[in-house]
Amino acid sequence: MSRVGIDVGGTKCFGVLVDEGGQVVREVRYPTPPASELIDLLQSMFVELDGSASLGIGVPGLITAEGVINASPNMPGAKNVPVGPELRSRLGVDVHVENDATMAAYGEWKIGAARGALDAVMITLGTGIGGGIVMGGQLHRGANGFTGEIGHMVVQRDGVQCVCGRRGCWERYASGSALKMLSGGMSGEDVFAAYKSGDEHAKKVVAEFADWIAVGLANMTNICDPEVIVIGGGVVQSFVEVMESVRSSFVQALYSSEYRAHPRLAVAVLGERAGAIGSALIAAE
Ligand SMILES: [Zn+2]
Repeated sequence: MSRVGIDVGGTKCFGVLVDEGGQVVREVRYPTPPASELIDLLQSMFVELDGSASLGIGVPGLITAEGVINASPNMPGAKNVPVGPELRSRLGVDVHVENDATMAAYGEWKIGAARGALDAVMITLGTGIGGGIVMGGQLHRGANGFTGEIGHMVVQRDGVQCVCGRRGCWERYASGSALKMLSGGMSGEDVFAAYKSGDEHAKKVVAEFADWIAVGLANMTNICDPEVIVIGGGVVQSFVEVMESVRSSFVQALYSSEYRAHPRLAVAVLGERAGAIGSALIAAE
């Protein structure tokens, strides 16, 4: 069965063809086009990848159950784009469209770092923070498919302005872009290089960054009681040392820390392919 998954990002569309076990057989990538040309590109990528059975598509933003993009922050002009209905009719295959972070979480759950878990939380620390939640062996979607907007839980009332229009969201303090703010304008790479050379300022920045990450992980643990939390995104994957600080801050931040089993904190394993792989797997179900 030829299952294709495509992750529509802010700058590129990344497509994969996967085999039965979810292994990537082939991949292609193209620059993300204007919203008006998106459906044509997705169609041609499916054909180029020799898809025949199903197509899954992960898109940032608010997606309806039928696969219509209501709004997407990274694609100006993407309003009511009927990706699912149009591609179903053009290709004659099952087409499933869903939030990109949900798709990435699904990939990590099915064949990645949360494989086999009945209760898991997946978090991606990128420019913002995306997430997905598995409860009782089911991917949780919520009444409207909007479950997993973990980055927008408010951790500081009247805090830093967020892209969502509110203030004090977790992603303003614990994402890749937050690291830049906490360090006073340094890139993540520079912070980590300075940290490794023993720089005191960098050590403080990393400790504060880890504390902020831990606050969100503790909140999610209190709400979901997961057995594992998978953390992905360039920030943690390129700098494994930060995870040690996160682990110790997390134990401090947890409610009733000494009376409960602590969830395992694992680093994501599918990397930038998680969204496309998850899309391919979910569409095949
Ligand atoms: Zn927000």
